[in-house]
Amino acid sequence: MAVCEKVENCPFFNEKMANMPATAAGYKRKFCLGNNEKCARYMVLKSLGGSMVPMDLFPNQIEKAERLILEQTI
Ligand code: SF4
Repeated sequence: MAVCEKVENCPFFNEKMANMPATAAGYKRKFCLGNNEKCARYMVLKSLGGSMVPMDLFPNQIEKAERLILEQTI
């Protein structure tokens, strides 16, 4: 359990994303303050770089993140 090193600038954590889900507080606890390794945004950031993280990608969208990473690495 650790605070994600991206919290300061992360658009999700700082509520800069459009259509923030009602579950945002729970996601912050689970991913940002819990296990960022399971966060979709963090996965893309670590695999492809920060510029490749879609603005509208939410932490729970693991499948979308995996698809993006796969598309870029094959
Ligand atoms: S866990 Fe994900 S959503 Fe939370 S601060 Fe880190 S990159 Fe952003």
